[in-house]
Amino acid sequence: MENLSKLFIITALVAMTLPSCKEEQVFDKSNPFFSEFNTTFGVPPFNQILAKHYLPAFDQGFAEGRKEIEAIVSSRKKPTFENTIVALDKSGSLLTKVRSVFNCQALANTNDSLQNIEIEISPKISAYQDEIGLNPELFRKIKFVWDNQSKFNLNPEQKYTLDNLYKEFVRNGANLNPEDQEKLKSINQKLSVLTVQFDQNVLGENNTYRLVIDKNGLAGLPETVLAPAEEVANAAGQPGKWAFTLQRPSIFPFLQYSENRELRHQIFQAYTNRGNNGNEFDNNKILAEIIALRAERAKLLGYKNHSDFVLEPRMAKESENVLNLLNRLWEKAIPVAKNEVAEMQKIIDREGGKFKLEPSDWWYYAEKLRKEKYDLNDEELKPYFELENVKSGLLTVANKLFGITFIPLTDCPLPHPEAVAFEVKDTNGSHLAVLYMDFFPRDSKQQGAWQSTYRTHQVLKGKEVTPVITTVFNFSRPGEGSPALLTMEEVSTLYHEFGHALDEMFHKNAYNQTFIATDFVELPSQLMEHWASEPEVLNMYAKHFQTGEPMPATLVEKLKNSSFFNQGFSNTEIYAASLLDIAFHTLEAPVDIDIQRFEKEYFDKLGLIPEIVSRYRSTYFSHITGGYDSGYYGYTWAAVLDNDAFDAFKEKGIFDKTTAGSYRKNVLENNGIMDPMEMYVKFRGHEPSEKPYLRNIGFLAD
Ligand SMILES: [Zn+2]
Repeated sequence: MENLSKLFIITALVAMTLPSCKEEQVFDKSNPFFSEFNTTFGVPPFNQILAKHYLPAFDQGFAEGRKEIEAIVSSRKKPTFENTIVALDKSGSLLTKVRSVFNCQALANTNDSLQNIEIEISPKISAYQDEIGLNPELFRKIKFVWDNQSKFNLNPEQKYTLDNLYKEFVRNGANLNPEDQEKLKSINQKLSVLTVQFDQNVLGENNTYRLVIDKNGLAGLPETVLAPAEEVANAAGQPGKWAFTLQRPSIFPFLQYSENRELRHQIFQAYTNRGNNGNEFDNNKILAEIIALRAERAKLLGYKNHSDFVLEPRMAKESENVLNLLNRLWEKAIPVAKNEVAEMQKIIDREGGKFKLEPSDWWYYAEKLRKEKYDLNDEELKPYFELENVKSGLLTVANKLFGITFIPLTDCPLPHPEAVAFEVKDTNGSHLAVLYMDFFPRDSKQQGAWQSTYRTHQVLKGKEVTPVITTVFNFSRPGEGSPALLTMEEVSTLYHEFGHALDEMFHKNAYNQTFIATDFVELPSQLMEHWASEPEVLNMYAKHFQTGEPMPATLVEKLKNSSFFNQGFSNTEIYAASLLDIAFHTLEAPVDIDIQRFEKEYFDKLGLIPEIVSRYRSTYFSHITGGYDSGYYGYTWAAVLDNDAFDAFKEKGIFDKTTAGSYRKNVLENNGIMDPMEMYVKFRGHEPSEKPYLRNIGFLAD
């Protein structure tokens, strides 16, 4: 599934919250960022925040943050954990406040003004981070605390925080000489601009393209696919026609059902060539420059390549470990994928098609193969996945596992008029979090699905600050007069992002800054997906939207059997993207590559079969510019973890409260403040095994 949880990336050093001291400045009182948010649970007053408020708030945020850092640096007191590490953690609170709101809105509710601010603010953030990260006096104090940590009687969270913070400074260039630090600053600023441009180009390509068809092109397309396409055409001023976009909920159903091979080919070409059209949205040069700059930076910091630099603080530790795993899995996946090609080619031949299966044919013939072998298709399932039912089923699952409850908030400001809000209450009725859900695509939203936070958990002056969390999706918009019906993949995506939200709401960190290993961050989300398709859970929520009947047992059984279907394809396309990511980032400086040629030669060498295109091709691989660089493998890495973790529940019963309690206490509460392997072993009793993963995708017999 499409899971883009960008904001999980730990942008250390500016992620800090505290009511700011603002005695002497003159403020624009109408700017909501300059006063406490006087709203339900202190959520941002979205209806009062205008685009013009961001830049002044950012500027003031930078100014206050700089003053607070200066106070730490100029203090004559001997550095301690409290006066250095904690003071740093609490600095820049206004900046964090405005930045959290801005980042979330720029992803889910953007416009031209916000996009311009993004371009303007992004190098300023980067410069501010560098000012802190490369401040020699600040580093000297942190190093003093780190060197003398045994004298400060630190608890485990404090030790973990100090250790990670210190290493991050080293990795940020704190040990470089002033001249090299200048080089580093310049590289970071260039990168921050280029990565934003890359994303905006992908969005530009998505919004520009429409495949518009008239009644001659409808063959094979079911009503549920046509209704939203009709609305897109209406919105584009083409009534009486149907339009498909490059957003996943639009293009993939088209590829799956349209009988028109030429049209399938056309839209697929548009999809796989995004950012590669030689127009104003072309990303080839931008990506080549990003990769060259990253390699240069790694070398400057003393690493062999960018991957080694990135992976050092991860659970994987080094690119060798990632490559070993991916290559082992690749060997297992390719024969399975080839077998799938052969099965589909048989259908083509039998139907008298005189052609070889091409990548744009895959979804159409996979759907036929699925009907043939498993007699199951999305349309058969969709009536049982009415959004409201799925949502309330999910909340019930969370309640059964953790005892938490969800109260709809009707008078709470919303990040977008289409979003819904809940108060999350803990077992004892105490307030745990505010949770938003925002379901449908629009031009102002990035593609994919993600979870991000308007406010994160921390402890301030002994008092808990509770999180404000949002989950954002791009589910097929319902046609007029009909409810939103989801595919199984969309249901899984809902569970996935909700898993991230659970992680966020259960955090027990005392400090604002946490260090979540990026290859561990998908465990909570991918683990939740397992519940979505368990027969016991389907019985709870999968009710027919018209009759209210539960999903028939035969359909549940078919769904279970279909879990091995198309695994060769779906894993091959993901492993291909993961390997491409590592290939780009293990290049050693100086790097000068032609993106298209590199991609082609790499996949040829790897043995990617011609019927499959990488899940993401280079010029729209937003993960590797949006913070998942050398990190896309993380989904697979986490899959090994989540399958092993779910086995713990399977052993004791999927709603076993003791297992859920242990998972909450040992993993979710400690995520970001404890070593990932240590947390995992505390929960599971042993290190993760690959076997449940391989078994569950059909690559390993029992
Ligand atoms: Zn995720």
